Amino acid sequence: FRILGIASSHFSTAAEPSWRHRTSLRIPNLIGGSFVDSQASESVDVMNPATQEVVSQIPLTTREEFKSAVAAAKETFPSWRNTPITTRQRIMFKLQDLIRKNMARFDKLALSITTEQGKTLKDAQGDVFRGLEVVEHACGMATLQMGEYVSNVSHGIDTYSIREPLGVCAGICPFNFPAMIPLWMFPVAVTCGNTFILKPSEKDPGASMILAELAMEAGLPDGVLNIVHGTHDIVNAICDDDDIRAISFVGSNTAGMHIYARAAAKGKRVQSNMGAKNHGIVMPDANVDATLNALVAAGFGAAGQRCMALSTVVFIGDSKSWEEKLVEHAKSLKVNAGTDPDADLGPVISKQAKERICNLIQSGRESGARLLLDGRNIVVPGYEKGNFVGPTILSDVTADMECYKEEIFGPVLICMQADSLDEAINLVNRNKYGNGAAIFTTSGAAARKFQTEIEAGQVGINVPIPVPLPFFSFTGSKASFAGDLNFYGKAGVQFYTQIKTVTQQWRDLPSGAGISLAMPTSQ
Ligand code: NAD
Repeated sequence: FRILGIASSHFSTAAEPSWRHRTSLRIPNLIGGSFVDSQASESVDVMNPATQEVVSQIPLTTREEFKSAVAAAKETFPSWRNTPITTRQRIMFKLQDLIRKNMARFDKLALSITTEQGKTLKDAQGDVFRGLEVVEHACGMATLQMGEYVSNVSHGIDTYSIREPLGVCAGICPFNFPAMIPLWMFPVAVTCGNTFILKPSEKDPGASMILAELAMEAGLPDGVLNIVHGTHDIVNAICDDDDIRAISFVGSNTAGMHIYARAAAKGKRVQSNMGAKNHGIVMPDANVDATLNALVAAGFGAAGQRCMALSTVVFIGDSKSWEEKLVEHAKSLKVNAGTDPDADLGPVISKQAKERICNLIQSGRESGARLLLDGRNIVVPGYEKGNFVGPTILSDVTADMECYKEEIFGPVLICMQADSLDEAINLVNRNKYGNGAAIFTTSGAAARKFQTEIEAGQVGINVPIPVPLPFFSFTGSKASFAGDLNFYGKAGVQFYTQIKTVTQQWRDLPSGAGISLAMPTSQ
């Protein structure tokens, strides 16, 4: 077992499932409560982005295996939906406890994330923690799933609404948050009473596997959570399957819009969180040091591979002169393998991602941007094969440049300029994405104007990455989201439930009242 790229003996316990003890690199699927080897002939390598070591392999799950996962989820649904909500909640209580214990002991989850995804261990712990908060939220599902009741809507008639689980739901995950995003999905879905098919990213499936083991240890019955590995084909099978009622997707716009259209054509509900270009607006009255620290952290943290990374800075007026200091701050960051305790940022996910990022930097330069800091040729001693890109800053970027129009998804901060807050707001509003935007200012009036006029789903005021905690929802907008109901919070519960309204009449009806064919109205 080498899912973490380290010997199994470090972590094995008698309680662990048998698949952990095997020598094969291939990760099994989870179907009906059993870890099952796929019979697929093809696999995809899961690579450590700092070393290019093959950590594990995912199978391209066959159609039959996929169907048996859906069948397991479908078969389990009636008993699971009839399991008292208090029991379902208690499993989440236990799951949050097990995740915490996992973090406190070996932190297998964080180590798996760093090994497969590349981010620093500290950042990987944050990845787990932000997901853990959703599990904590799901512990209050009985309250969240409550319906409504109006008594006596007409004589002797009451109406009430019930939020019922949908059935089999599915989740399709991106590579950049291997723990948090699966945890945005299945804890809410299953605590509402649904059963679930999870398709982890083919680039870093390890955290999903560990979370599934913990969920089973917490008491989640066989068949409630199933995992199938694969790429496009399995995603298309999820979109097309008549037994799957809803799909949660997080990832790129290309995949997200494809899934949204294909699944909607089959009558499914879809929530699709997609790409971003998040702007940080800097007013000249902002606190200089705090703002520059925030810009550097939000631009380069996780090597810029966060959908809420602050990838574009708009300096207003005199704040443009802060660019020099911004470069100094960025230069001080340490690029290294995520396991190095001093690393500020690790590698990007793949060779292809690095090439794409470098091409966008080059295209910016060729179209007139000034390259103030160039991280393209960085070499990390001991990790010469790693996909590293150092912090990069492009200045004098304009809205027509490719590096502005495209999501770069790497450690690249692009700097633009505006003469006024109005001009900066217009720039942000013209951008097709609407995930997040932040303003840095000491002026309440400017902050209020920004909050009111900005067209972005998640707004930060002196907060660079304004991702709401799970009692709110993740509210990306414009091209960053497709669907009606966002992830987690109240909307998350609404997404995974069907509302049913019941109108009941209990009264002694007078005999001989006759028949009326007119549309009933309240009397
Ligand atoms: P991706 O779209 O390449 O992959 C996401 C999932 O979709 C994977 O499971 C993959 O197997 C599948 N997939 C990819 N292409 C497909 C296709 N053509 N047909 C069917 N399935 C396909 O995304 P990624 O590179 O893993 O993740 C990075 C992207 O995710 C960025 O654009 C980032 O902004 C976005 N993201 C958004 C949020 C958000 O909440 N808005 C959060 C995290 C990441």
